[in-house]
Formats: sequence, C-alpha cells, structure tokens
Amino acid sequence: NPAIETKELCYAYEDGTTALDHITLSAGRGSITGILGANGAGKSTLFLNLNGVFTPKSGQVLLDGQPVKYDRKGLAALRRRVGIVFQDPDDQLFSADVYRDVSFGGVNLGLEPKEVRRRVEEALERTGTSALRDRPTHALSYGQKKRVAIAGVLVMEPEVLILDEPTAGLDPQGVTEIMRLLVQLRDSLGMTILIATHDMDIVPLYCDYAYLLGGGRVLLEGTPDDLFANP
Ligand code: ADP
Ligand code: ADP
Repeated sequence: NPAIETKELCYAYEDGTTALDHITLSAGRGSITGILGANGAGKSTLFLNLNGVFTPKSGQVLLDGQPVKYDRKGLAALRRRVGIVFQDPDDQLFSADVYRDVSFGGVNLGLEPKEVRRRVEEALERTGTSALRDRPTHALSYGQKKRVAIAGVLVMEPEVLILDEPTAGLDPQGVTEIMRLLVQLRDSLGMTILIATHDMDIVPLYCDYAYLLGGGRVLLEGTPDDLFANP
C-alpha cells in the first residue's frame, strides 16, 4: 500500500469555494512527492486534509490502505502519523528556546520524559541543530528556524512528513541543506515526504514523483523525467 493516498477527495470552504475537486493521488513509502501548482491551486487545503485539520467534504484519505475514520481516535492517530511543517516557521515555534520547542510535540504526546529526551536528541542530531539547543528560537536565522521546525515534527516520529514550501526564502546553500536533510530522512528512515513547492529546480533533483494541481484538480502527474521531458 502507499503510505498515504487520497481518493476523489473534495473540500469546500464555508463561503462555497471549491478548493479540492476530486483529488486522487498517492505517495509511496520512502519517497519524496512534489505537489506543484500556482497560488490558489489547492496545495495548502490538500495538506490540511491530509493531516486531519480539515475533514473532507467527500472522498477519502487513506493511510497504508486504511481509510481515515473521522472520530476522535481516528483523528488523533492521523495527526500523530502525518506531521506538517508550515511555510513560516514562526507559525510553529513559540517556546523560549530551541530545546523546548523541539520537545513540545513529544511532551504533548504524553511520552515519558526519558523518551522525549531521546527523541529530541535524535531530532536535533538529524537536523543539524544540536549546537543551537540553548538558543532563543526568535534569534535564529530563517534557515535555522526551518530546521528546528522540522526537528519539532520529527520528535513525534510521523510516518509521513508534509512540508509547505520548504525552500521558500532560503539562499541556494540553505535550499541544498534542507533538501539533503529530506533525502536523508527518506533514505535512512524510509520516511514518506510530500512537499508543496513553487521551486521547479528542486523537482528533478529531489522528487521521485510529482503532481501538478490547478483549480483544485490534478492537472498532470508523473516522474520528473515524464513531466520535464521535452515533447
Ligand atoms: P495554494 O496552497 O495552492 O495556494 P489554497 O489551498 O490556499 O491553495 O487555496 C485553494 C483555493 O481555496 C483558492 O481558491 C483559495 O482562494 C481558496 N481558499 C483558501 N483558503 C480559504 C478560506 N479560508 N476561505 C475561502 N476560500 C479559501
Ligand atoms: P522545565 O524547567 O520546563 O521542566 P527543564 O529545563 O528542566 O524544563 O528540562 C526538562 C528536561 O529536559 C531536563 O531533565 C533536562 O535534562 C532536559 N533538557 C533541558 N534543556 C536541555 C538541553 N539544552 N540539553 C539537553 N537536555 C536538556
């Protein structure tokens, strides 16, 4: 089974805007999938459906072939299994220092303190932020904040990691660092990664598969070779 998939997923906002119109897509375990599309294409709405912040109007989200159940337990499991990294790290970092920010998700899951510490150490290590642990989060560079935000999600040990514009606002070196980190998570942990991006340069370099959304629909899909081949 794919780690995560949607079948005929539809979502409309309260004002009647149809943001997702029968989206069917899937992401294989241990792959990086690009979700491409202009502003308003539906990328953010898709992601919020994938981690249970939004409940689909119709259609399904499936994890490992099992349809998500929209009861309290089903939603709690979905939110634990699918981690989201927002575009703006300031939307998810709010503790006094990096260590506490990265710990937060683990504490929130009700894990034993010892287990939280183990996971935090591992997440700091993987994201290359160990040396920043005692720094006030607000004093970090944008790229450092992005990595700390990823560490905070890794602590929950999600199976699927979703990132909204992970490379936006970074210089070329920052882009390479973040993308290498994601490749590392895919290759060493077998994590399933979805990234929404405007950055077409990273797709052939780092994505295994990609979907182009427009007007809430899937317009194109394929491997980067398929999508970027000259006709
Ligand atoms: P993207 O992330 O690709 O820019 P979005 O998922 O944000 O796209 O938006 C998809 C569609 O839903 C757009 O038409 C957008 O205007 C609309 N939309 C997004 N958020 C809201 C909202 N809170 N209320 C009403 N419509 C919204
Ligand atoms: P609080 O005062 O909110 O309970 P603490 O600062 O005492 O939080 O930290 C809780 C636990 O996290 C401590 O047992 C400590 O071992 C660990 N911890 C806190 N900060 C760090 C750090 N910078 N590096 C390693 N472990 C830390």
